[in-house]
Order: sequence, then structure tokens, then C-alpha cells
Amino acid sequence: MISKILIANRGEIALRVLRACKELGIATVAVHSTADANAMHVRLADESVCIGPPPSRDSYLNIHQIVAACEITGADAVHPGYGFLSENAKFADILDAHGITFIGPTADHIRIMGDKITAKETAKSLGIPVVPGSAGEVKPENALEIAREIGFPVLIKATAGGGGRGMKVAKNEEELSEAVSTARSEALAAFGNDAVYMEKYLGKPRHIEIQVVGDGEGNAIHLGERDCSLQRRHQKVWEEANSPALNVEQRMKIGEICADAMRKLKYRGAGTIEFLYENGEFFFIEMNTRLQVEHPITEAITGIDLVHEQIRVASGGGLSVTQDEIVFSGHAIECRINAEDPRTFVPSPGTITHFHAPGGLGVRVDSGVYQGYKIPPYYDSLIGKLIVHGRTRVECMMRLRRVLDEFVIDGIKTTLPLFQDLINNQDIANGDYDIHWLENYLAEPA
Ligand code: ADP
Repeated sequence: MISKILIANRGEIALRVLRACKELGIATVAVHSTADANAMHVRLADESVCIGPPPSRDSYLNIHQIVAACEITGADAVHPGYGFLSENAKFADILDAHGITFIGPTADHIRIMGDKITAKETAKSLGIPVVPGSAGEVKPENALEIAREIGFPVLIKATAGGGGRGMKVAKNEEELSEAVSTARSEALAAFGNDAVYMEKYLGKPRHIEIQVVGDGEGNAIHLGERDCSLQRRHQKVWEEANSPALNVEQRMKIGEICADAMRKLKYRGAGTIEFLYENGEFFFIEMNTRLQVEHPITEAITGIDLVHEQIRVASGGGLSVTQDEIVFSGHAIECRINAEDPRTFVPSPGTITHFHAPGGLGVRVDSGVYQGYKIPPYYDSLIGKLIVHGRTRVECMMRLRRVLDEFVIDGIKTTLPLFQDLINNQDIANGDYDIHWLENYLAEPA
């Protein structure tokens, strides 16, 4: 059994994990940089340890400091949240060597899914449909031959990729060699690894991802999908569950393919299998071996607390539900509230002079900020998530419109006005959008 969890993260997700620990009667340790001494999760945790100066590499990414904080406080498990060390296999290995439970998958599974070529090969071997593309790495000398086989347009992607970096489209043979060399140099600069691979470039897909949870013993469930097509520069902005594009049969079919793959893999913990979806077909792009930012919409439609499940399976307690006990109910939408200009997305750190969170039936606000809180400039700009649930998509949208009017965050710029625009848009109302929709919308004059 786990008795004390160290939360190796900050912001809203640290608070999210802390809440789950409290409900389960597990003691909590917050770690924080000097810039985060006044953060909400630090105030609410049973104990806290300062692990370094503001830059992430010296604090939230500093494995030695985090392990030392575990030793000092006697924490027997670590929850990594998302980002930072959550998909770092070395971190999982080091914790293991210290006899500390990593609340997540095995280091091997993190490694497999962290390399995109291996991830794709593994997914394919487990029966998951993948995007047509190169078998393994593409070198400049064989790029043309492979591209002709796949058919243009093609996408060059970094095998160590993340955050949409190191990706280049080649529409035809003329563009190919430059796309390959640019992708390789970007990949080298961003990830220290210039290996790239090639995929068929899909023109107007939706981004649809399946939530899975496994117990590491060969039992696994899926919790349906999330549609995260509304993105800006590959960053998700608005997510919904279920996807407006899928019916029940499609959902259960792709969900079962994913759950079955996780059973074969003996996957442990929460994970997300990401697909592009076009013309009724799913194409695997990657798997994230952690809790995701947008997990609350899945919680809203299933009633299942994903952090509880993570902690249960990490402590050997197994899953709390079987697949046939899961009931999908209603519709949920999440809006990511960033401290940014709503049109230019320039970060807007500073002091929140007035903060009022909306409430009422079907409303959840996950945020670590409060009135008087000073947003530090060192970290990503997500300051909160607004999650709204309704019995139908129409009811959910009506509720979201009401809730957006109630939300007050003064003193800084936020992305709230963007959502107030989107909620009145006809395409959004119809659920009629693909992964390029938001970029095109933002390119139009406001
Ligand atoms: P990263 O890990 O860098 O985020 P992904 O493989 O998850 O990379 O891809 C990020 C985004 O890039 C996807 O959500 C989609 O918008 C776009 N994308 C990826 N692969 C393709 C493809 N084959 N065709 C069209 N768009 C793609």
C-alpha cells in the first residue's frame, strides 16, 4: 500500500493529484521551486520541500532533488502529473532503484512509446491501425523512393518528436529534400537526435484519442474518446467527449481495439492512444504514457476518477471497474484557460487582481490560481481548465455559454474571450471542424 505520495509537479495538475490523495487518505508532499512557494498545492499539502530555483531544469526536472525530497519526507510513491518528468524512463528507473513507486507505466513501456518509430511498430503489432508510412528511419538518400511508395503529400517527422517540432510537409518531389533536411536539423536542435521518419500527410483529419487504463497484469479498459481537433500550433485549446464525429459503434470498436492492445502489452496505469481520423478511418500517431491535461472530460462522462485509478493500479489494487460496468453519460467540453492574449497568444504573466470561478450543476474548474496570486513567467501559461458537462452536446454548449459569462479573471490577459467567440460560431455549434479549423479561424480578421 502507498501511504505518502510526493507530487512532482506544479500548477493545476499538482492540485488535481493532491485532491485525489486526500480523498484516498494518503499523505501528500508538495515540491516547489522558489518561484512557487505561494502556490495553492504547496499550501494544501501536508508537507512541502523547496527543490531549487525557478528554471525547470534546476527544480521540477531535477531528479536528484526530487529523490532527495522523497528520502527526507519518507514518501513511498511519486505522482509525476503531466509534462516535466512524467514520460522520463530514467526517472522511473531511478525511483525503482530507490524502492519508490512511480505512479505510471513501467520504464520499458515509457521508452517504447517515447520513440515514435518503435511506438508505431509496437502499435501495429498489437493490432492498432497506423498511418501509412516508412518502415523505420528515413535517410536523405532513400527519401524519394519511400515518398513515391507512400504517395505525396508526405510528412517528415522526428522520431524523438514532441510538441509538433521537427515536422515538415512535402507536397511534391521538388519539396522533398529540403523538407527532410529541415526536419533533421530541427530534430537535432530540439531533441539531440536527427532521426526522422515519413508518413502519408492527411489533409483534413480530426484528432481523436482513446483513454485507456491497465493494471499491469493483463487487464485493461478504455474510457471512450476525446476529440482534440481544435488546436493552435499543435497545442490543444478546446476538447470534447464524446467526439461529435463518432457514433456508439465506432467508439466501442476503436475503444476495444485499444483496450485489447493494452491487455496484450500488460500496460500499467493511465495512457492515451492518439489517432488522426479521416473518412471513417483511424490512424495511430502516438501514445502518451501519462495522465493528460484533458482527462477531466473523460471523468465527466464516465464518473471515474482517473487519478484514483492510477494510484490503485500503482499500489497493486487493480482497476476499480470492468469494461462492462462503464457507462458513458452525456457530453463534456474543456476549455484551456491560458494567461495569454486571446488573439496573439503572447504570454501575460502578472498578478490576478480579481478571480471569480463559475459554479452550478455540471461545472468544474481545475485551477491553482486565486485572487492576489502572481503568475510566474517561468512556466507554461495554462492557469486553469474549465470543464462543463451536460446530458447532451446542446445542453453542454448552453451551459458553457452561461459559465463563460460568469468567469472573472482580472489583472492579466486570458484566453477566455476566445472561448466566448467560439461558443457563438456555427461550425463549432455543428461540431464541424478538423485539425486546421482553429488556425484558419484565427487567421481571419477578428
Ligand atoms: P507531437 O508528439 O510532436 O505532438 P504528433 O505525432 O502527436 O507529434 O502530431 C502532432 C500533430 O501533428 C497532430 O495532432 C496533427 O495535427 C499533426 N499530424 C501528425 N501526423 C500527421 C499526418 N500524418 N498527417 C497530417 N497531420 C499530422
